[in-house]
Amino acid sequence: MVVENTIRVRDYINPSRLPDFAYVINPYTGCTHKCKYCCAEFMRLFTGHKEEWGEFVDIKSATKKINLFKLQQTNVLLGSVTDPYNHLEEKYELTRKILNETKDTDFHLFIVTKSDMVLRDIDILKQMKDVTAVFSVCTDDEKLRKDLEPYSPTFQQRIDAAKTLHEQGIKTIIYISPILPELTDYKSIIENTKEFAQMYWIENLNLKGGNRPRILDFINNNYPQYYDLYFDIYKKHSSQYWTQKENEICEYLEKNNIEYKNYFYHEKIRKR
Ligand code: SF4
Repeated sequence: MVVENTIRVRDYINPSRLPDFAYVINPYTGCTHKCKYCCAEFMRLFTGHKEEWGEFVDIKSATKKINLFKLQQTNVLLGSVTDPYNHLEEKYELTRKILNETKDTDFHLFIVTKSDMVLRDIDILKQMKDVTAVFSVCTDDEKLRKDLEPYSPTFQQRIDAAKTLHEQGIKTIIYISPILPELTDYKSIIENTKEFAQMYWIENLNLKGGNRPRILDFINNNYPQYYDLYFDIYKKHSSQYWTQKENEICEYLEKNNIEYKNYFYHEKIRKR
C-alpha cells in the first residue's frame, strides 16, 4: 500500500546539482516503482517519512506559478528523484499539468521515466519546442527487472513506448542505468533499441545508504558467484572493475558510431 499526501511547496522548479542541467522538476516526492537500487531514497530522510521507500508519495502543490522566463534556453530534467509517470500520475496528472504550463517555453526538457504512461501526453509533447523522452533501463532480462523493480513497466513496454514516440517525431534517449556489475547486458539493450534511440546515456550502479545492504543481500541470495566482486567494489571501494567496464562500454559505443553521454560516477561529476 502506498501512503498518499498532498504537500504545499513553493515551486515545482529547483536548481539542479546534476551535470548538464540548470533545473530539475519533481512533481512527486517518493516513487511507487520501488526499485531496489534507487538512489533517491535519501528523500525519505528529508521528508521525515517513516514508511519504506516506495510506500509513500507526496503529491506537490506549488504556491507560485512556474517562472517560465527563468527556464528560457536552459536544460531541465523532469524526474531526478521520482518517476514523473509513477502510478499516481494516472490519478493526479501533475506531470501533465506541468507540461501544459511549460509547453510554449523555449527550453530543453528531458523527461526521465520507466513508464509507457508518457504516451498519454503525446499531444502536449508534440507541441513542445524541444523535448526528449529518456527511458531508463537497467536490464532487458525480465526476471531480473522484476526482482529489482517490482512495480515498474516491463522492458518491452518501455521500448514500445520509445519506438512510438520516435515514430511520432519525439526524440528518445535510452538511459542504461544503473549498469549492474556482470548483470546488465548493455550490448543486448543497445541491439534492441538502436533503431529508435537518438543517443544513450550510461551510468554505473551507485550504492550508498539504504540501497547498499539491500543490493548486497540481493546479490548474495540470487547471484552468489558475484558477491565477492560487489563486496570489493562497494565495501572495499575498489575502482578496478568500473575503470575497465567504463572503457569497454565507451570503446564499444565509439566503434559502432553510437552517440552517448557518460554519466559514470555522476555524483562526482556534479557541476564543475
Ligand atoms: S523509478 Fe527511479 S525514482 Fe522511482 S524508485 Fe525507481 S529508480 Fe527510484
